[in-house]
Amino acid sequence: MERFDFIGVGAGPSNLSLAALAQPVTDLSAVFLDAKPRFQWHPGIMLPGAELQVSFMKDLVTLVDPTSRYSFLNFLVEQGRVYRSLVANGTSVSRREFEQYYHWVAEQLPSVRWRRRVRSVELGEGALEVRSDDGESLKTRALVLGTGKEPVVPHFVASLRGPRLLHSSELLTVRPNVAGQRVMVVGAGQSGAEVVNHLLSEDRQLPSELVWVSSREGFQPIDDSPFTNEWFTPPYVDHFHGLPEERRQTLLPRQRLASDGVSESLLRNIYRKLYLLDTVGDGRLRHHLVPCRRVIDVRRLAGALVVTLHDEDRGATQRCVVDTVIFCTGYRSVLPDFLEPLRDRLTDTDGRLQVGEDYSLNWDGPAGLRIYVQNFAENSHGIADPNLSLAAWRSARVLNSIAAREIYRVDQARATTDWAWEPTSPTPDPTPMATLVEQR
Ligand SMILES: Cc1cc2nc3c(=O)[nH]c(=O)nc-3n(C[C@H](O)[C@H](O)[C@H](O)COP(=O)(O)OP(=O)(O)OC[C@H]3O[C@@H](n4cnc5c(N)ncnc54)[C@H](O)[C@@H]3O)c2cc1C
Repeated sequence: MERFDFIGVGAGPSNLSLAALAQPVTDLSAVFLDAKPRFQWHPGIMLPGAELQVSFMKDLVTLVDPTSRYSFLNFLVEQGRVYRSLVANGTSVSRREFEQYYHWVAEQLPSVRWRRRVRSVELGEGALEVRSDDGESLKTRALVLGTGKEPVVPHFVASLRGPRLLHSSELLTVRPNVAGQRVMVVGAGQSGAEVVNHLLSEDRQLPSELVWVSSREGFQPIDDSPFTNEWFTPPYVDHFHGLPEERRQTLLPRQRLASDGVSESLLRNIYRKLYLLDTVGDGRLRHHLVPCRRVIDVRRLAGALVVTLHDEDRGATQRCVVDTVIFCTGYRSVLPDFLEPLRDRLTDTDGRLQVGEDYSLNWDGPAGLRIYVQNFAENSHGIADPNLSLAAWRSARVLNSIAAREIYRVDQARATTDWAWEPTSPTPDPTPMATLVEQR
């Protein structure tokens, strides 16, 4: 049985970053197994025109090793497009181009093996044994999970899924026929906005009616302001990880718009398209943008779908008949089935797994064997975890932990905000505030 210092399961952006950073480290052996035939980045929703929501510097390596040959900049240079890209892209990059870049890196990494779906991980003699569906068994002392997240739809629509009721992640694989149809889009995050923009993009494919439902108070932009952006820096991740569990769970929903809001340019685009359709278009499209509504039920009725909404403003229930519903209701972290044999040994609090600062799971297995998680630790490491912002830094931290030495520096970043500020040496006999005011 082949043996490796560590095995990555999944080779999406999270583990691809780890694979790229590990490539020059010659004394550590690693392999990355992915179920797909080749690198693909959310192919079901890779819509034309979709833009990367972060700077291209948040690629697989640059923020910890700007000299790495696996940077986006090096990709542009090697493809002969660096000057054209500078002129064409400015600060934004299309998601398709970033997928090309990921693919280019993956092709160069001998440690990545495609068409390997991991089926089980078991505790063997002094090692974790990883089996994939091609029958291969491998041994390791450290496993790094990078299997991504699972699309979420409300439980009551599970049995209705198909060409008329789908999750946004299936849009380009299911390709529902929307032309001249009544379509409802549920969810007003980035995916919801991208789907709406897509539905409005082709005049000949326009729905007859579009209902866009938001459970929030409106169709809100991402908070991309400077101090909010500091939640996406290593010092904040460490600060957040050190907070009591209860405090973390209070903060996360309050910070949601920093990650789940819509890019402002996309909102402007949609607004303008609707304006033009209403004023100079042929009036074929009726549209209803409805905030403060929750879908509470969906039934099939004579080939159509009857959707029940709860109107949170007025505390009322509404019914609406449409032909197609597209749920843009996000993704959630789920422990993969292949870890079931070890589930009882993983420590949890209220159903949440305990993740250490170095992204290793708390468990009662042999101390020399570790399980790390990538993109699975929002509860413990904060709002930046599912985002690409810290992929390189997180991978570097995992790699340092596996190697038990500092291969990459991960502690030099500073922020402007001082979350853990303590006033220095309080005066032993402070002048009462009232006296200070009087003296002035
Ligand atoms: C549509 C979309 C757009 C996004 N755009 C941005 C953005 O612009 N900026 C940003 O910061 N973030 C963005 N994100 C968030 C995040 O960066 C991405 O979701 C990113 O793809 C996460 O990478 P990952 O490697 O953790 O997971 P994934 O990309 O989901 O990769 C997981 C991999 O694991 C493999 N896998 C799963 N199970 C197994 C198994 N049992 N055996 C072997 N392999 C397995 C899968 O085949 C897959 O390749 C976006 C998310 C979505 C959904």
